[in-house]
Amino acid sequence: MYEIAPDVAIVPMLIANAYLAGNANSWALVDAGVPGSQRRIRRAAAKRFGRGARPKAIILTHGHFDHAGSAGVLADEWGVPVYVHPLEFPFLTGRSHYPPLDSTPPGFFSALSRFFPNSTVNLGHRLAALDLARPPAGLEAWECHHTPGHTMGHVAFFRREDGVLLAGDAVTTMNLDSFVGTLMKRREICRPPVPATMDWDRARQSVELLAALGPRLVAAGHGAPIQNAAGELRRLADRFPIPVRGRYVRDPVRADETGVTYVPPKENRLTYRA
Ligand SMILES: [Zn+2]
Ligand SMILES: [Zn+2]
Repeated sequence: MYEIAPDVAIVPMLIANAYLAGNANSWALVDAGVPGSQRRIRRAAAKRFGRGARPKAIILTHGHFDHAGSAGVLADEWGVPVYVHPLEFPFLTGRSHYPPLDSTPPGFFSALSRFFPNSTVNLGHRLAALDLARPPAGLEAWECHHTPGHTMGHVAFFRREDGVLLAGDAVTTMNLDSFVGTLMKRREICRPPVPATMDWDRARQSVELLAALGPRLVAAGHGAPIQNAAGELRRLADRFPIPVRGRYVRDPVRADETGVTYVPPKENRLTYRA
């Protein structure tokens, strides 16, 4: 755990980062790692805010298992709700599953994704609807932006006063498509993780939205935070690399508040895009 900006600390973890936002009087946990991350997160919170520190809320950028995994255990322990965009509810209540991970695109993460589940954890009664206009207690200083594409209810958090962006999986700060990039954890602002992204047109629009905010610091779910990132994020938005091939590239997954309503057939993996 280390501070990346005033009142913001990262809890780096093997798969996906979590963040502690706020001060000892009022703070929130943003994302909660894979299942089994609770000890690490608890220790980080105790180190930063004191023993027995409890947040006002747990807030998820989206419901994928590597971001929501330990949210239930921690919510019960701390007695706090888990805020998430309503479009993520069906996946976190067992009503629907995320579409199967598409392992057809090349890359290390894609190969690894064969071993990832497309179901996530069930948070049931712990869930609370995130109000985009009014971020929950613990995140008062932040704006909440709907950034669909990776998943339909994906959100990112932006602190305008100093340009800090908690981007979730709307972008990554390491190249998950490259074996070397993943291994070396080379810092680079890249598109969302390919195998799990549901709608590439929306993903591109969301990166455009984030680039327009002009963030100084980009802190994402995967990779180490990047300082002075506005220019690099702008370039990603201007030349957004929609994957050349992949099951969901030409024909996006469709979803609404009931969950997934359409998954493109598997044959689409052979579709090429110029
Ligand atoms: Zn994700
Ligand atoms: Zn992720």
